[in-house]
Amino acid sequence: MHLFNYKGSELYAEGVRVRLLAEKYGTPLYVYSAGTLLAHLNAYKEAFDGFPNIICYALKANSNIAVLRLLGRHGSGADIVSGGELFRALKAGIPAKKIVYAGVGKTEEEIRYALGSGILMFNVESGEELREIDRVAGAIGKKAPIALRVNPDIDPETHPYIATGLRKHKFGIPIDDALQFYRLAASLKNIKIMGVHKHIGSQITKVGPYVDALKKTLLLVDRLKESGINIRYLDMGGGLGIPYDTETPPNPKELAGRILPLLKGRTNLTLIAEPGRSIAGNAGILVSKALYLKKTAEKEFLIVDAGMNDLLRPSLYGAYHRIVPAVKGRRKKSVQDVVGPICESGDFLAQDRELQRVHAGEYIAVMSAGAYGFSMGSNYNSRPRPAEVLVRGDRHFLIRKREEYEDLIEGERFIP
Ligand SMILES: *Cc1c(COP(=O)(O)O)cnc(C)c1O
Repeated sequence: MHLFNYKGSELYAEGVRVRLLAEKYGTPLYVYSAGTLLAHLNAYKEAFDGFPNIICYALKANSNIAVLRLLGRHGSGADIVSGGELFRALKAGIPAKKIVYAGVGKTEEEIRYALGSGILMFNVESGEELREIDRVAGAIGKKAPIALRVNPDIDPETHPYIATGLRKHKFGIPIDDALQFYRLAASLKNIKIMGVHKHIGSQITKVGPYVDALKKTLLLVDRLKESGINIRYLDMGGGLGIPYDTETPPNPKELAGRILPLLKGRTNLTLIAEPGRSIAGNAGILVSKALYLKKTAEKEFLIVDAGMNDLLRPSLYGAYHRIVPAVKGRRKKSVQDVVGPICESGDFLAQDRELQRVHAGEYIAVMSAGAYGFSMGSNYNSRPRPAEVLVRGDRHFLIRKREEYEDLIEGERFIP
């Protein structure tokens, strides 16, 4: 669901006209809906209500501190993949004891920072990392809480760049070797085994692979128990898809309906979920202004002021984002490429899309841009990054100011 709807001919973000936001804050502009974010978080909370759980929102989807604070105040923890994300989560007031930390390349500095902050657990991705965490924890006199991220070798049937749970991927420990790595963990003095973690990919639209991966993981939990290793946290990862176009991914309730029966009788377990996209994706739009309509012999291009540096997904994955006008008119439709100003032919927001014609100066909204939108943005072509606005009911708040030219060179120095 989301709260971006037309009233008459005008697109609204909750109770606020998108066109007015564009005029007030300028474009390109990210607009997020607090009501949508919270509805998505609550859907998870309600779905898993019958079982001890922590919902750890995956920061990398959208890590603006205002978004994090909103989610945190409504009970969310955090799934982080870097020291920078830990910094953001703590700044936003998310309790350390609700933070889990994945990623294949944690540095010594990051491990120290996380240990010092008292996070719930590291989701460890290799034997080498396990030894390094043990070493760093020993050096500062702490015990490091860990889960091993297991790779269940399940195909999530999603885009290859965002599938993570196959044997060929860099993530996790092959599930068939996991017992031996848990034995290693148990033998290390400064390691405390807390749980088991898996995350097989993103934009998953079928419940089957998700459930299969979890079943495999539960078999491991049982085998570990037989070996005297007690697992308290079962971290099932994130990855539920969202409808960008015509997809019909399962919702948290459907997922829980398949998962909770598998957990019956496992009274000492706490379930962790790490949703990112399914919380933030449809809770945001990217508003952009039409600059030029350019017709060539081959094509019709709508050139807008947002590019691949603002929203990379179409260029990176060939991802589909619905595009709608901020104000609907009685205009002819035509087949257009919606492109940005970046000097790359891969800079597009949509290709061969049938859209209502808009005139220069009018606004469009790129839908479902709340996850992996701003957070994947860059300054490529020396473009200041856009402003971000959070709407709640009929109020709107600037939660990140638009970058200025001076911001582009901050930190750069001439040599003497
Ligand atoms: C990216 C990621 C997530 C979130 O994935 P979504 O598809 O956005 O839900 C969760 N856990 C880990 C370890 C990740 O890397």
